[in-house]
Amino acid sequence: MKVAVVGAGPAGVRAVEQLVRAGLEPTWLEESPDGGGRIYQRPPAGFRRGYRAIYGADAGRARRLHATLEALKPRCDWRPDTLVWNIRTRERLLDTQTAGRRRDTLAYDALILCTGAMDRILPIPGWTLPGVTTLGGAQIALKAQGVGIGARPVFIGTGPLLVLAALQYAKAGAPPALVLDTTSFLTKAMAAAGLLWNLPTFLRGLRYTAALRMKGVAVAEDATPIAIEGEGKVMALRWRDSGWREHVTPCDAVAMGWGLKPEAQLADLAGVPFRFDATGHNWLPERDAAGRTPVPGVYLAGDGAGIGGAEVAELAGARAALALLEDHALPADLALRAHLDGRLRTEARFRAALERAFPYPAHLARRMEDATLLCRCEAITAGELRAVARYGGSEANRAKALSRVGMGRCQGRVCGPPAAEVLAAALGVPVEQVGRLRGQPPVKPIPLPGAA
Ligand SMILES: Cc1cc2nc3c(=O)[nH]c(=O)nc-3n(C[C@H](O)[C@H](O)[C@H](O)COP(=O)(O)OP(=O)(O)OC[C@H]3O[C@@H](n4cnc5c(N)ncnc54)[C@H](O)[C@@H]3O)c2cc1C
Repeated sequence: MKVAVVGAGPAGVRAVEQLVRAGLEPTWLEESPDGGGRIYQRPPAGFRRGYRAIYGADAGRARRLHATLEALKPRCDWRPDTLVWNIRTRERLLDTQTAGRRRDTLAYDALILCTGAMDRILPIPGWTLPGVTTLGGAQIALKAQGVGIGARPVFIGTGPLLVLAALQYAKAGAPPALVLDTTSFLTKAMAAAGLLWNLPTFLRGLRYTAALRMKGVAVAEDATPIAIEGEGKVMALRWRDSGWREHVTPCDAVAMGWGLKPEAQLADLAGVPFRFDATGHNWLPERDAAGRTPVPGVYLAGDGAGIGGAEVAELAGARAALALLEDHALPADLALRAHLDGRLRTEARFRAALERAFPYPAHLARRMEDATLLCRCEAITAGELRAVARYGGSEANRAKALSRVGMGRCQGRVCGPPAAEVLAAALGVPVEQVGRLRGQPPVKPIPLPGAA
């Protein structure tokens, strides 16, 4: 049986581990030069920083995952530097592109997609200035390259990654000038009971927050970013505190992010239906608790199936592989299956509380100023998108055709969620009613055949 796994983050590693244990030799495709995924991304060869310095409290987990990854590589058809840019479901084919520009087509009987997630952003005036990046981007720069985005950055957004990335910068000698959290303390406190479902992670979050304050970093909760200011580069953040007082904080870089959104374009191309998850404010591909989708032979695991975090990704990767084995009458570890099902149920409760504790500030997206650049690839403002709403652009894909929002290099991966909010507000309907941008091949830019 030909099994393919896309993605070598925590979910992909644990999925392949179970497949190999059952005697299969899957083809394992990873866009990056090496595995590890976002959280355990490895520095390039030759970098000498140790695990503790790179991964902090996650060093042990990172080391274990990397060890498994290395042990698995010779036991499967390991293909790094390989982007899967299309799925042809009826023929069960994957279209791939390697970094060396080679195009290939791969047949499969069963497929596990472990494609992870990316930062969710909120465009504000000035967000396209040089020096502005996502929270994840700021963190990857530190982890993978040992460099910071600036000497005095500002971090804005909400969620665990906001605090973690800011603390990592403070420890690295570039303490943020400000951490601006759009969520109020009350909102977080109200979700606290649900966070007890994973007490160690909850306590770790509290420790990180306390450590950030002890390092003297200013943290503003329930605050609103107004604009990133500067001429040719970032120079300051203009913002409003919870009492509606305006401030200007000088800085040389900005990192922004409001939680994560699944990288689910391949699931979309595979024909998996989507549903809107009101708690996490994300469109999610449909799957059961084990990762089975309504499309025969297609399984999902990790953040690409719904944001759960790295621990859940490892559990879900193993679980999806067991589901695949069972569905094909191959031996699966039933004791492990029961253990994984229990853990995944508990973690789902914790995740729901986390989403309530750090909500996406849809209200800010909905009242985005007309002049704000919404789609940076095609240079379309929020006002231009609102205008097409008046001419029949009442659905996300129709609005894309009329306005070009989401038609550029990012294919709506960045601007899609805030654009949907702007459109929904203009039409006076709930955001799920305007739908979502459909995935299109290629899921990421690839060179034209024959291009130099
Ligand atoms: C930038 C960023 C930073 C993060 N930092 C932290 C952190 O510090 N602490 C924490 O607890 N959590 C962090 N998270 C969340 C955490 O990384 C995830 O919960 C976890 O990594 C999910 O594991 P995964 O295997 O589902 O996905 P990932 O780890 O994202 O792995 C997915 C893999 O699939 C590959 N891939 C995707 N699409 C394709 C394709 N079309 N073709 C080929 N390969 C593909 C990617 O290159 C990637 O290696 C971060 C997330 C992001 C996006």
